[in-house]
Amino acid sequence: MTDDMTAASPEGGPLLEVENLTKHFRSKGGAGSVQAVNDVSFHLERGETLGIVGESGCGKSTLARLILRLIDPTAGVVRFAGADLLALPLAELQARRRDMQLIFQDPYASLDPRLTVRAIVGEPLAIHGVGLRRERRDRVAELLKTVGLDADAMTRYPHEFSGGQRQRIGIARAIALEPKLIIADEPVSALDVSIQSQILELLLDLKARLSLSYIFISHDLAVVEYVSDRVAVMYLGRIVETTDTESLYRGPAHPYTEALISAVPQPDPERDRTRIVLSGDIPNPESPPTGCPFHPRCPKVLAACPDALPSLKDIGDTTHPHLVACHLY
Ligand code: SF4
Repeated sequence: MTDDMTAASPEGGPLLEVENLTKHFRSKGGAGSVQAVNDVSFHLERGETLGIVGESGCGKSTLARLILRLIDPTAGVVRFAGADLLALPLAELQARRRDMQLIFQDPYASLDPRLTVRAIVGEPLAIHGVGLRRERRDRVAELLKTVGLDADAMTRYPHEFSGGQRQRIGIARAIALEPKLIIADEPVSALDVSIQSQILELLLDLKARLSLSYIFISHDLAVVEYVSDRVAVMYLGRIVETTDTESLYRGPAHPYTEALISAVPQPDPERDRTRIVLSGDIPNPESPPTGCPFHPRCPKVLAACPDALPSLKDIGDTTHPHLVACHLY
């Protein structure tokens, strides 16, 4: 580990750099391992939203926990604003965590039902010793207003609110310390469709107002298209395709991405596609298929696919890099 890796990067550098991140869990029986995240690399620019999509069990949520160092990786590097998070002593890591916050999928489960909204939203401020008690109260009132809730919500408890309002409370807590990065893990998938759009609008509004950067994790490709500047598609713990949102949705290159996008309802008839129905489920990550992990389900499988793991290749151009891991390219 060099000193350079822990020095603060210039403001112009990427906010987040993830290199070859890997997490293998010991399987329940203890004999084998579950390959949850495999050799994942990407970066996030300041002010950018990177969408991460894939089916349930593809490793998206494990990736979020690795980035925040809520769990330690088996291998790889995570740099935040130039600092190597895996090399930081605990005290420095805690200080850095102010700048990185998580919004959870389930606003019902993520808010402590015994605490008032004032205590929930004010908790990060109290933990990090921000302001006096009265100042924290004023800050909570301001945060609630920012996310579209009245200040009188402060004295109430989570069960008194609707799902959308609870997610607003969770967002108020996430922005309390003025973070630079928010990782939103399926933030709208537990909500009704009409409420989903309100929460997405709030997240986009906050991004502009507070100069936030997002990693937006979802299985819902329409939602990811709406909020993301770039998208990474994950399958069985690996990124199989990544490019800017427009290029990905107009011209998906990986057969898995093609299938996912073909299932998204299209209001624009020009973009309407024949639906590709994949056979089978996502394989067990304890015993992933050999070669390309998608080969048992791939409609375009080649003879070489069960034997050789495809690496990511750039099939784009200098202005639109487009990485895809597939032997078709
Ligand atoms: Fe399909 Fe082969 Fe490409 Fe994998 S490498 S996605 S199996 S064509």
